Amino acid sequence: MRGLRDKVAIITGGGQGIGRAIALRLAREGADIVIADVNTATASVVAGEVRAAGRRALAVQTDVAHANDRRALVDAALSTFERIDILVNNAGIIRVSDPLEITEEEWDLVQATNLKGTYFTCQAVLPHMLARGQGRIVNIASIAAKAGSTAFVHYNVSKAGVVALTRNLAVAYGKRGVTVNCVCPGIVDTEMWAKIEREAGVLLGMEPGEFTQSRVNAIALGRLEQPEDVGDAVAFLCSEDARYITGQAINVEGGMIFH
Ligand code: NAD
Repeated sequence: MRGLRDKVAIITGGGQGIGRAIALRLAREGADIVIADVNTATASVVAGEVRAAGRRALAVQTDVAHANDRRALVDAALSTFERIDILVNNAGIIRVSDPLEITEEEWDLVQATNLKGTYFTCQAVLPHMLARGQGRIVNIASIAAKAGSTAFVHYNVSKAGVVALTRNLAVAYGKRGVTVNCVCPGIVDTEMWAKIEREAGVLLGMEPGEFTQSRVNAIALGRLEQPEDVGDAVAFLCSEDARYITGQAINVEGGMIFH
């Protein structure tokens, strides 16, 4: 893929799942990687994997919901690598609840991580990208941004917000050299999906495995999505080949045309 060699990329939530796959794919394309995750142990393991792939890596303990952590992340990235070319806002959480049982605390936690965390991490990195007149931001939203759900309304709302902030920042900074896009994954085989399967199945009165199976039945390609399926799409959006794409929310979900 063109244009990724020697770029510096921050991946939030890069310690496992989709974030790890994005980090490793970008490293394979020749980028140096900053893994920003609340979980230092997993972030350090992925940093080791990036180094084993021949690129430089830095693990930074970061809670994207906290301003001090976001500032410290940008400082650490700049003092180690001297620039930031790519930001992938991937950190996210989900809570499974009946819509009438969602508490304000739970609502706030989901928005603080998925929506506020994404927006303000962009805000922390953008001045640096604008000063250099170039940058790529990819936000990991979800098909949940475009769908309705009886089990995680607050999550879906947060992801719809991520799509909206992506469009707004794309319009604000396109003329200054920064593209901002979203990838909307479907049902990805990670710890997050395992939690959804367990908890949503119980909430909806389903047998173990039934919730996932009902979703897989709606996928044209007939299989669960793998983290690497997302990583490959993100690498494309960060590459030179995607130079004329901005403000988009691109579905990478195996063709969930009938959901
Ligand atoms: P995951 O739970 O396996 O991994 C999430 C990672 O984010 C973990 O390493 C975790 O420690 C980190 N994290 C959580 N809160 C954080 C915070 N406040 N600050 C920094 N790091 C934090 O999840 P995943 O399935 O890999 O999901 C990654 C992203 O993809 C999320 O934004 C999720 O909403 C989105 N997504 C997932 C699916 C799916 O089916 N798994 C589908 C669509 C979108």
